[in-house]
Amino acid sequence: ASKSGGKNRCTWFIEDFDLSREETRKIEEDLRQAIARQEFRMVYQPLVDAADGSIVAVEALIRWERGERDPIGPNVFIPIAEDTGLINPIGRWVLRQACTDALAWDLIKLSVNVSPAQLRNPEFPIQLGQILEETGFPAERLELEITETYLVGDPHVAGRALEMIRGFGVGISLDDFGTGYASIGFLRKFRFEKLKLDRSLIVEAADDDSSRAMMVSSIAVARAMNMGVTAEGVETDAQAVLARTAGCDHMQGWLYYKAVSADEVTRLLQLTHAVGDERHGHVANA
Ligand code: C2E
Ligand code: MG
Ligand code: MG
Ligand code: MG
Repeated sequence: ASKSGGKNRCTWFIEDFDLSREETRKIEEDLRQAIARQEFRMVYQPLVDAADGSIVAVEALIRWERGERDPIGPNVFIPIAEDTGLINPIGRWVLRQACTDALAWDLIKLSVNVSPAQLRNPEFPIQLGQILEETGFPAERLELEITETYLVGDPHVAGRALEMIRGFGVGISLDDFGTGYASIGFLRKFRFEKLKLDRSLIVEAADDDSSRAMMVSSIAVARAMNMGVTAEGVETDAQAVLARTAGCDHMQGWLYYKAVSADEVTRLLQLTHAVGDERHGHVANA
């Protein structure tokens, strides 16, 4: 793979379009060993209340510690894990780890990404129930982030699986809204507790009238249907003002916090929540 240095300032990731068949196979081989070798770790990106900046939730994001080998981000290895079925054991590890870490953060919610391939596994709802029971994590504090890709396949099967998950008390968020096919019609067809507006929509809305119109109307419909709306990937004050004005109730992005370790979340929550109403504003990124 070619190194796309500079794109990401101090780090770089292999991009999937850079990979040859041989390299993909090698990653797959490495992935097979990664759980047993304990190479995965979870980081958590705080989501804040649009009104007062307090932390309301964290999104769990997987990282792969590859030592001396080339770093690879989840945008690259998660699709490979999906193609090979490895997403099932990896996804179970993610859920168990995130629920364990988040147990102590009792004032906020935990959001976990779930791939279409995981949801299509008929065992998934059972495994989710087991993990909730084993970890003791309260289902009401868990949200699963799903993408439209899962919903376009077989909407009836998808709808049934989502209802089973909801039966536990777990919420469903529609992730990356505004990137693909998912339209306002989806919000009527399936029930979501939350809509997450993709970073690309937030960026485009800042300088393109039609993107802004789409963002504003999606938020209005979602709010009218009692969904929460999160703006993803907010990097600038201008984007934050736009998203807040349009009615987003939660914000997520580097303007507020980057993804941090579990210990760092605990520290941040002590700083921002333990002092009653006296909340600190933005805390520097770690
Ligand atoms: P996502 O679920 O949409 O997660 C948001 C991504 O945007 C994360 O990338 C996050 O680090 C990044 N991000 C957050 N704020 C900003 C910002 O202000 N600017 C920019 N440029 N980026 C920001 P990450 O961690 O590389 O994850 C990429 C994708 O990989 C995720 O997108 C999700 O689809 C998938 N993924 C990550 N962790 C997991 C996991 O545990 N399980 C599954 N199934 N998928 C995961
Ligand atoms: Mg997500
Ligand atoms: Mg997203
Ligand atoms: Mg995304």
